[in-house]
Order: sequence, then structure tokens, then C-alpha cells
Amino acid sequence: MESKKTGKTAKKNPSAGKLFVITGPSGVGKGTILEKFFHNNKNIIYSISQTTRKPRPGEVHGVNYFFVSHEDFEKSIQNDELLEWAKYSDNYYGTKKDFVLKALEKGADVLLEIETKGAKKIMEKFPDCITVFFTPPNLDELEKRLRGRKTEDEASIQKRLKIVKEELELSTIYKYTIENDEVENALNKLQAVYDFEKRTKSEAQSEDSTCETSESEAASEQ
Ligand code: 5GP
Repeated sequence: MESKKTGKTAKKNPSAGKLFVITGPSGVGKGTILEKFFHNNKNIIYSISQTTRKPRPGEVHGVNYFFVSHEDFEKSIQNDELLEWAKYSDNYYGTKKDFVLKALEKGADVLLEIETKGAKKIMEKFPDCITVFFTPPNLDELEKRLRGRKTEDEASIQKRLKIVKEELELSTIYKYTIENDEVENALNKLQAVYDFEKRTKSEAQSEDSTCETSESEAASEQ
């Protein structure tokens, strides 16, 4: 079996779980949506990333992230412990390989909440992954949200706003795009995507399925 995108041979486990990749620019409000989504869907596992960013007030090691030093992060890269990693606004972020692969192998669905560079790597490695991009209603609203949460200094806000503009241009490579106009609205759309993809599990897991850039029936029905 050959993957169209990587050309690598990959054995498939028909009962493996599905991999969901969610990206949303900083300040888009995906945290609130995902919290509610996980509350409503106990069978999908959140992949806790590792990062060199300092914890924000209220963030807990092993819950929000595994907070590690630059040195330890670089060791993880050298030891091939990460499925993907990227530098974002001066910090490293990465997905733990062992955890995700074992969960998928056991049949669990796994959700990665990662930025665009990492998402592109995952799309190459897992052509069957389901990708969702959250967009803000507009950039002014996003800047207001970013400032309103008071977790970043001005320099970091400026860096993040610059990245947001670059990320928005990449939204077209995702299978689904959901505008976060209102939390409940966006949550319902995410739920529709999840339910739709679960229903089409066997079809999507066929050898040739790829992540095509298209708005699916599930998202557009909203
Ligand atoms: P924040 O500092 O706001 O928590 O996250 C900054 C960005 O890093 C967000 O876009 C978030 O989705 C992304 N991110 C979080 N974990 C990972 C990861 O494991 N890999 C990659 N590539 N990006 C991540």
C-alpha cells in the first residue's frame, strides 16, 4: 500500500482510531470550543503537547501542556520522540509520538490542536487525518480577544498577530473551515464534522482516501 503524499509504505489497522487536527489562530477562541467539545465527547482523546512556553496563570503541567526546558525539548527532537514539532513565536511546540500512535492503534480517536506548520507535517504523514481550521469573524475581533485575555505582553501580541495573518492564508489546505462567530455555533459545526466523519469511518479509512480541501456536507449543512 502506498501513500499518495509520502510515497512511503504504510500498514493500516482497520480498527485504528481517527486523527483530528485542529488549528486556530491565537485568540480565535478555540480553547472554549474544545473544552465544551471534549465535555460532550468522552471517546476522543486530547493529545497533550510539549512546549517550552512558560505556563500561563491557571495552566497545569500534564493537563494543558507538558512544560519543558529548551534543552529537554531539543533532546526529544534528537531522540525522535515527536510526531511533529514547530517553533511558534520563539517557543517550541511538539506532539508526543508514542502517546498518539498507541492511542490510534488501540482504536481511540485523537485530537491534535496544533499550528499550521505542524499540521502540514501531520497531513503528509497521515493522509487520512481530518483537518479543521477555525477562523475569527474578522481580524479586529481577534486582536480584541487576544488583548482581552491579558496573557501576552505587547511584543508577543504583535508577533502573534503577524503569525495569524500567515496562518489564515493556509486555511485553504484544511478539509473544513469553521468560523467562530459564536461559541455555540462553532461548537455545533465541529460536532457535525465529528459525527459525519465517524459515520464515514470505513470509507475514510480505505487505502486511497486523502485529505482533500473541500467543504463537506456536514459543515455546510449548518
Ligand atoms: P499557545 O502558546 O497559545 O498555547 O499556542 C501557540 C500555538 O501553538 C497555537 O497555534 C497552538 O495550536 C500551537 N500548538 C500547541 N501545541 C502544539 C504542538 O504540539 N505542535 C505544534 N506544531 N503546534 C502546537
